[in-house]
Amino acid sequence: MSNFTVQHSLADLGAPFSVPCNPTPVPAPQWLAFNSELAAELRLPQQYWQSDDGLAVFSGNALPDWATPRAHAYAGHQFGHFVPQLGDGRALLLAEVISADNQRFDIQLKGAGQTPFSRRGDGRAPLGPVLREYLVSEAMHALGVPTTRALAAVLTGDFVQRETAEPGAVLTRVAASHIRIGSFQYIAAHGDLPQLKTFADYVIARHYPGCANEANPYLALLAAVVAAQAKLVAKWMSLGFIHGVMNTDNMSIAGETIDYGPCAFMDSFNPAQVYSFIDSQGRYAWGNQPRIASWNLARFAETLLPLLTEQPEKAVELATEVLQGFNGLNEAEFLRLMTAKIGIVNTTNADEVLIRDLLNLMSANKADFSQSFRLLSQSVTDSSAGAAKLFADQQGWQNWATLWQQRLGTHGIALSAVQQQMDNTNPAVIPRNHLIADAITLATEQADLSLFNRLHKALRTPFTLADADADFALPPTAAQCIANTFCGT
Ligand code: AMP
Ligand code: MG
Repeated sequence: MSNFTVQHSLADLGAPFSVPCNPTPVPAPQWLAFNSELAAELRLPQQYWQSDDGLAVFSGNALPDWATPRAHAYAGHQFGHFVPQLGDGRALLLAEVISADNQRFDIQLKGAGQTPFSRRGDGRAPLGPVLREYLVSEAMHALGVPTTRALAAVLTGDFVQRETAEPGAVLTRVAASHIRIGSFQYIAAHGDLPQLKTFADYVIARHYPGCANEANPYLALLAAVVAAQAKLVAKWMSLGFIHGVMNTDNMSIAGETIDYGPCAFMDSFNPAQVYSFIDSQGRYAWGNQPRIASWNLARFAETLLPLLTEQPEKAVELATEVLQGFNGLNEAEFLRLMTAKIGIVNTTNADEVLIRDLLNLMSANKADFSQSFRLLSQSVTDSSAGAAKLFADQQGWQNWATLWQQRLGTHGIALSAVQQQMDNTNPAVIPRNHLIADAITLATEQADLSLFNRLHKALRTPFTLADADADFALPPTAAQCIANTFCGT
């Protein structure tokens, strides 16, 4: 493990992009979770693997010689309102690590104490949100969704005051980078043109190096981020995932899912579904996510305008054309993912109707999103089996299933192979809200991590379900159903 390779490219850019800041020590750290698989990818020295040395580093109590802790500056539109200064208020970038396959990753402590960007916050994180982010981000990774990851979670031995006093915890987050649309908004609002160019060039070199060779590198950067976000949001939607707080400061330039606050996987399907308690207007509802991503990308484009060309009107024209590509990319990707979920491999535009009708049927029957798709493979050969039992409207289901089976018949692929492919596409287990809530309650109130550990293990292989975990596949009962999720910050 001696090939641990650390760099500090963002720190090297200096202010205003980030500022130095040390973590604040905690009284009595204890291990909650450690991700050995990710540690191996990062070539993290064994010295830190769930050891006392690791506990000291990942709680913020010790600074290893490879860390140069920095708080990153960013702005953002929160629920549509511009806040010129947000920044890492409870997070610190420790280092960038070059992984075994030559990728660069940020290692960041979240909940390690106050920074110059904390405003009135305490810089800390409660145990609940730390466990939630650990579970959901690792589940997303196992589901093949671009995402930040969780390397470690530790208890601080202190309490943080929220609605009540809760145990404090620190999450170690790993990301392709923590650069957001809001990072560009910060420089556009506070910096000068040379700084904006420095930052854009840095981001191109780091995330989209091919853009440097394009005729207009900054327009190419915009197009690359538009494409990455269009695909990401389609992927979320194909899994019934609702991010919950798609502010521009929570949208990664690298196209990863970032910031697991009030996020949720939907139970019964409703395109207008919202779980986040603070999202009373439904701005970030499941079906609104493409529209919001597109709006956020327009905010990104605005920051790049001065770099696109010296003629302001021409710059707007160029950016608008790229932004207009979002819908087409997003819809095509959504259709491709959704048709794969119902076993179709040679997608055509005509399949849109089949997907739309199924979603309408699911929503009219309040069918569970994940369970519907998971059980669909059993209905490939027998339309009275599998998903059939989820629909009160049996006639509607039969009508749809007939058209669907006819469509599958045009493939020339063995139905058993179709079923296999569907089972490898539609997860049997997702981090359902009620399961996460139960795991958090047990950990917070009884210091019992057994459900967290069991759930985490099951979510690592979401397409297969052990008999012992059969309960994880089930939708919540009326009593278990969670109506609201909270940021918990
Ligand atoms: P979030 O809602 O997690 O996306 O955070 C929005 C902004 O609030 C970011 O600038 C965070 O750094 C900041 N923030 C959230 N929680 C805290 C906290 N406990 N202490 C300081 N800053 C915080
Ligand atoms: Mg955030």
